[in-house]
This record gives sequence, structure tokens and C-alpha cells, in this order.
Amino acid sequence: MSRVYNFSAGPSCLPEDVLKECAAEMLEYGTTGQSVMEMSHRSKAFEPIIQDAEAMVRKLMNVPENYKILFVQGGGSTQFAMVAQNLGIKHKKAAYIETGVWAKKAAAEAKHLGINVDVLASSKDKGYSYIPRVEKIEGDYDYAYICLNNTIMGTHYEYLPDTGNIPLVADISSCVLSEPLDVSKFGLLFAGAQKNLAPAGVTLVIIREDLIQDVENCLPGTPTMLCYKTHADNGSMYNTPPCYTIYVLGKVLHWIEKNGGAEGMAKRNREKAEYLYNFLDSSDFYRATAEKGSRSLMNVPFLTKYSTGSTDEAAIAKEKEINDKFVKEAAKAGLVNLKGHRLVGGMRASIYNAMSLDGVKALVEFMKKFAEENK
Ligand SMILES: *Cc1c(COP(=O)(O)O)cnc(C)c1O
Repeated sequence: MSRVYNFSAGPSCLPEDVLKECAAEMLEYGTTGQSVMEMSHRSKAFEPIIQDAEAMVRKLMNVPENYKILFVQGGGSTQFAMVAQNLGIKHKKAAYIETGVWAKKAAAEAKHLGINVDVLASSKDKGYSYIPRVEKIEGDYDYAYICLNNTIMGTHYEYLPDTGNIPLVADISSCVLSEPLDVSKFGLLFAGAQKNLAPAGVTLVIIREDLIQDVENCLPGTPTMLCYKTHADNGSMYNTPPCYTIYVLGKVLHWIEKNGGAEGMAKRNREKAEYLYNFLDSSDFYRATAEKGSRSLMNVPFLTKYSTGSTDEAAIAKEKEINDKFVKEAAKAGLVNLKGHRLVGGMRASIYNAMSLDGVKALVEFMKKFAEENK
């Protein structure tokens, strides 16, 4: 067996220790004679698994008592609708900051559901390469929405807008538990698990209790399953939860705790990101696309000197050739999933919690060699 360094943006690498534990328990969990995959979610064996996962989220994220922790399905994309349907109910008006694909999709979904959407700021003018500064948000908004870490553009908020009494909603899919976060500053947080927490299939929602509404008070037509209260009232077991994913999530959370919790992750992640950005900033072959002051610790898109922005056909062909060559040769060297998103081009290294500093160092070594051979 030979494991690669996996730089996928999601689903992404998981801690090897967690995978080993899962493997060891695959045929028999504890003394139950069965795999967690095969268990009833109402069984005595499974209930402690989901309870522990919830308790670990509360502990590691320091979630205050007046917040509920929910495990739902449908990914981050379903949250775009749920947020609007459950929170956009009084004025049917919400503020969005447009920082890339995911924030845009969220705003479009709210609009589709009849919310009056105000886009207060956008970084579209520079290809979403930075986070616009919106210090204060005021008005008759039901909520204000941000995407804290922009997985595709590689940007991250280094401040939070002051929203006063307006609940601040944040998509933290690609930065959850990558560093400490003050949950009390938010009305609602959500994260699809497949970036930094678990395999695909579960979405973590942390919601302040006063924002939880009866389904009758949600936007007209809101399905029972898309009402947060349905899940809050039933311990995330109104229907069958994604049991196995929640089990792996619990193991990842214990791994995070063993490695210093959110603080430990932040230290590890800063070290990795600095190593990579320092190399990119000192290179005359590569460059990072995200502006300083807005850079993600988790997703690092980068281009080569052959990405000139020229519309000349030969230049475009050369750029594509170099990018393809990079991705192919990197994969041969055991560094996989480095192809950039088509909207940014070039390459992207996602260096989530589970990626080691050794993985980042191996990437930089490869990048040096590639630059030398293709200069
Ligand atoms: C991946 C991602 C999403 C979409 O998640 P799905 O689970 O695929 O619906 C939303 N927001 C962010 C920030 C993401 O990285």
C-alpha cells in the first residue's frame, strides 16, 4: 500500500489514524458483532456515537449553551435554502457579501425563495481575489450572510462585520475547526463535513435557539425536513441520519482534540500555509492568486508565469500545457488532486487539518523541481 498526499478541495484527506480505527472496527464495533454501517440509528450502540459527536463539537468549538448543534443532510447547498426559509421570515430581506461562487449561489437561492437580497459588497472587480471590508451592517435585514472561507478563490475573512442585532450567518464549510472561532458572534454557522470534518454526507449546523422557528412560521411551503426545529426537537434523528459519517466525524473530532483542539489546528495550519505562501511569494515562476490580508489557510490557488492573462491563442495553449504537465507530474510524484478550479485556473492545494507539514514540504520540493525544469 502506498498512500498519496491528497490536496483535494473536497471530499478531502482524513487523518490516517482515523481511517485505521475505522478499518479496525469495520467488521465489529465494540462487542456488537456488527459494523456501524449496519446498525439501527435507534440502537443502544449508535445513540452514544451521535451524542458523543455532538458533545465533541460543543467542546472543541466552545459552543454556548443557548445554541443547538444539528446534523442534517443535503450538504452546504441545502443550507443556502434552509437559511432563507427559516431566518428570512420577518422582513424577507437579507444582506449578502459576495466573495465568490458559494456566496453567490447562496444569495441566488435566497432570491429564488422570494427574499429581497441586498449585496452589500462584492470582490468581483478583481476576480474575487480579496475579501471586501464591510465593517458595519445596519438595516431591516432578517440576517446578514458571509462565506467565511472561499474554497474556490482561496480567500478568508480576517475580520467579522459588526451586525449589531442582525443575526450573522456564516458558511464555514471549508474552515470549520481550522482555527478558534467565537460562535457567540454568529446566529447560525454551517459546514458540509466533506472538507474538514468527515466523509461527505453530513452537514453540521450550529444555530442560536431564538432563531429556531416552528415550520408554520418559516417561509410558506418550507418542507418539514428543511425546518431547523424538526432536527432540533429530535436530536438530529427525526429521520435516519447518515450514521456512518457521523461515526467518522466523531473520530475526527477526537483526533483534533488529541492534536491540541482548535488552537492546535490553527498553529499547525498557519505553519503549513506560511510555508507554502512564503515559497509562492519568493518565486519568480509561481504566484498565489489571493491577496495578502485575505488569504485562506486551507485552500491555496496558484498560477505559473505562463498564466499571463493574454488572449493570444498560443499563450493560452502554452498555459494549459504547463498546468496539465504540473498536475500530471505531481500525481506521479504522489501529490494528487492539484488541478485548479476552472474559474481561477492554474493549480490549487487544499491543505485542510488532516494534511501534514510534511505533505506541504513535499509539494514545495516538487514545485521547485518543476520550476527548474520548465523555466
Ligand atoms: C463545498 C462547499 C459548499 C457546497 O457544499 P455541498 O456539500 O457540496 O453542497 C458550500 N460552501 C462552501 C464554502 C464549500 O466549500
